[in-house]
Amino acid sequence: MEIPYKIYLREDQMPRAWYNLRADMKNKPAPLLNPATGKPMTREELCGVFCEKLVEQELDDSLPYYSIPQPIRDFYRMYRPSPLVRAYCLEEKLQTPAHIYYKYEGNNTSGSHKLNSAIAQAYYAKAQGLKGVTTETGAGQWGTALSMACAYLGLDCQVFMVKISYEQKPFRREIMRTYGASVTPSPSDSTKVGRAILAAKPDTTGSLGCAISEAVEAARSQPGYRYVLGSVLNQVLLHQSVIGLEAKTAMDLYDIKPDIVIGCAGGGSNLGGLIAPFMGERLRGESDCRFIAVEPASCPSLTRGVFAYDFADTGRVCPLAKMYTLGSGFIPAPNHAGGLRFHGMSPILSQLYADGYLEARAVGQREVFEAAEIFARVEGILPAPESAHAIKAAMDEAVCCRESGERKTILFGLTGTGYFDLLAYQRFHDGEMSDYIPNDKELAASLSALPRL
Ligand SMILES: *Cc1c(COP(=O)(O)O)cnc(C)c1O
Repeated sequence: MEIPYKIYLREDQMPRAWYNLRADMKNKPAPLLNPATGKPMTREELCGVFCEKLVEQELDDSLPYYSIPQPIRDFYRMYRPSPLVRAYCLEEKLQTPAHIYYKYEGNNTSGSHKLNSAIAQAYYAKAQGLKGVTTETGAGQWGTALSMACAYLGLDCQVFMVKISYEQKPFRREIMRTYGASVTPSPSDSTKVGRAILAAKPDTTGSLGCAISEAVEAARSQPGYRYVLGSVLNQVLLHQSVIGLEAKTAMDLYDIKPDIVIGCAGGGSNLGGLIAPFMGERLRGESDCRFIAVEPASCPSLTRGVFAYDFADTGRVCPLAKMYTLGSGFIPAPNHAGGLRFHGMSPILSQLYADGYLEARAVGQREVFEAAEIFARVEGILPAPESAHAIKAAMDEAVCCRESGERKTILFGLTGTGYFDLLAYQRFHDGEMSDYIPNDKELAASLSALPRL
């Protein structure tokens, strides 16, 4: 059967339920802990920060499917299904016998997969009768996605944006404002934790961990507001399973079985979503598919971090999560341009990695941009630098197949578009991009501040 260049699904073939990978995990991800008591966060405690329905999803390790509410499916219909593309041109360029597929999530205005969870989180906030939500954003994709979802549902949206991105990515900021969000550079003096961080480090350019602390405080201090997070959490991976479910349905139509599934990993949401149904098969003993997480060498949480309870935020106001972490004070070097800057990794992916189901590799940013450029020239799509981490690993695997003569099927997640990352591309083209890889001493320093339980 000839495989088309793009495989789309009809509306009646779209997923009606999200898949909860935890249901098939023997070792469940560790629970979030209350930092004050060291005990698992209760439903009530979590409901002070997050929406009720999302807390239910966060805590549920056993129900395999959650039906997707109709209003969310209606929203998905505006930009989904995302195309599953057979990378014929890339295969030709690499002269590989491998078959390469990618699932492209950049075909919406926010430009990434983050909209899949943003609409779900905004929907449940609205359904609970809340006034608005607060959040952080690093490069800006999550804030953009959330502001689109909030505008659609008529919710207020307050975004704390990492200061350096606020300054370097003014266009992201303007999209958020177009969709009605208020955007505050973080650290700011509008929260207690922001003022404390500014007092300690007046010149700081901000970090995700710091913006999270501010957003959580803002949610707690305004009635009718809750905090929402764009990655890391179990609920976010649940929503992102729509990526994997669509990909699997499309591949099943042509009887295609991936041998390797690859994704970039920041907090782990796109990878967790893409691999979900394929990993479910592996956990149930129905396949021996391999899974590879690709992270930046400058922020190597899986490959060089430790598996321990840590804070998700610099201000240490969030619950503790057991994850591969570099320490909540870790901030990638300022010359790092490839995104994926979070110091920790989703507890679900961390557990799968600890149990040997997931592989991980770290790549340098120059080789990532080289891969991005090759991909753009042959496949036409300008990839986000984050996505290019997955491209790089997929190309490496395809080249291995050329050398071994194996005809493997490779699927990778192309999470977004690079239109807002052209400053990074500019630095790459001007030869100003260097790789800064933290040394063991630096990592030991940020790891020494792990909370003791
Ligand atoms: C946010 C983002 C990522 C990384 O986040 P994950 O939660 O690890 O998926 C990757 N690619 C793009 C385009 C993003 O916007």
